[in-house]
Amino acid sequence: MKDWNALASDLYDGSFRPMFINGKWCPAQSGAEMDARNPANGSLLATVPQGGEADIDAAVKAARAAFEGPWAKFTPFERQALLLRIADKFEAEWERLCLSDTLDMGMPIQRTLANSRRVLGMLRFYAGQAVMIHGQTIPNSFPGEIYASTVREPVGVVGAIIPWNAPIAGSVWKIAPALATGCTVVLKPSEEASLTVLMIARLMQEAGLPDGVLNVVTGLGADAGAALAAHADVDKIVFTGSTATGQAIARAATGTLKRVSLELGGKSPVIVCKDADIDKAVPVAAMSVFANSGQICIAGSRLFVAREIHDEFTRRVAEFAAGLKIGQGIDEGTDIGPIISARQADRIAGFLSDGPAEGASVLTGGHRAEGAALKGGHYIQPTVFSGVTDDMRIAREEIFGPVISALPFDDLDEVVTRANDTPYGLAAGVFSTNLGTAHKLAHRLKAGSVWVNMYHAIDPAVPFGGVKMSGYGREGGTEHLEEYLDTKAIWINAD
Ligand code: NAD
Repeated sequence: MKDWNALASDLYDGSFRPMFINGKWCPAQSGAEMDARNPANGSLLATVPQGGEADIDAAVKAARAAFEGPWAKFTPFERQALLLRIADKFEAEWERLCLSDTLDMGMPIQRTLANSRRVLGMLRFYAGQAVMIHGQTIPNSFPGEIYASTVREPVGVVGAIIPWNAPIAGSVWKIAPALATGCTVVLKPSEEASLTVLMIARLMQEAGLPDGVLNVVTGLGADAGAALAAHADVDKIVFTGSTATGQAIARAATGTLKRVSLELGGKSPVIVCKDADIDKAVPVAAMSVFANSGQICIAGSRLFVAREIHDEFTRRVAEFAAGLKIGQGIDEGTDIGPIISARQADRIAGFLSDGPAEGASVLTGGHRAEGAALKGGHYIQPTVFSGVTDDMRIAREEIFGPVISALPFDDLDEVVTRANDTPYGLAAGVFSTNLGTAHKLAHRLKAGSVWVNMYHAIDPAVPFGGVKMSGYGREGGTEHLEEYLDTKAIWINAD
């Protein structure tokens, strides 16, 4: 087993970590700083600049200058080569990157390490795409020698705003396709987890990223984030976070009618049919919520189980949950790490009280987790509620914590109606050994992704995103490139 604690003290020692604008490492213009604390034990890892409007403006100017200057001269093949060098750099530094994430936002180290296929894959997938972007020559209705063609052009300066729950994947997923298309980026990480994003910028710089192509401004959402969303010289906002913030960003973007794509919250259903393979479905359904302590947008937090198998299935999910090890993310045996902040933990604890108050039964968990090894952090027991009805708060609102609400159902039409009865539409899971049932449900569920006899599959080559109030736009796959491209029609009169 690796001594992650020894590596951790080499990585962060409480000192100031500057932000990254125009290839330079700098403090906030105001001089303001904010603490970066380890949610596992509350210790100070570093301080970072608390950037504001003036820093966002400097970063946008740098991104604009790079977009219209040196970066515009990079050929697609040069952008591809850069993305491949970045991927190699990340691969070489993978353990340090993952450790940084575990320290900064609490995700168990085994889970961060396991993300390599996805993150390195994103960089290499979009490296491949960089040389595949092209327009068309289009036959048209004009008589004579009139030629129409299209070219695909980068949209320009992209403002990217991300949450704290997956900083490596969240930032790389925004940056890689932007670089592939020739855009430049101003990235505002979450105030709860800035450190790994700064490390990512440093690695990209070391891999040869030109000045201004990526800028990272650390700061608060209401301040730096809002300034980025409203900035007149930003062409596109890509946002991942809560639905309420997504709505504020969409409103702010109307001032300049900049394009927006939004990856927002969810209350995803997992449907376990009576013919499901129970042994396989139990751990997958449980981890659809408990992974990352439930701090995942796609958490399958409404567990619909066919009445015939409901009691056995929920009992087994509860047994599985009770066997998960709660601890600091840096311990390799940890399954359930800390919650990011006291505020989030208090919010989740509110749902833990609401469930029983509204009539739900606690099959396991239901409380904060405490103990000597958890001191200074905020931990929540993995919790399974049964006897839940569709109208309860725990069945309607995104909890963003390790809480499953189990709901029995009787037939497929009924469960489709109930599963779709939510403002959200991010993801859904189906467990059935009947191909026809699986197909029917997959087509009728209103969600951006449906997983059958599996969950959590997110891949660089496959589009991901939401419908309804889970947002619009897609990340991943060739669809993601569209978010960063404009189409120009060029007409030539050759007569
Ligand atoms: P959040 O909305 O509070 O914050 C997200 C980011 O937006 C942060 O960087 C924050 O500083 C910034 N921000 C806050 N207010 C802003 C404003 N007025 N203008 C501009 N920026 C602002 O979300 P969070 O608590 O960090 O993350 C949890 C939420 O993110 C959950 O709802 C979760 O479902 C969602 N999420 C969605 C996906 C997805 O792909 N759909 C992935 C991960 C998380």
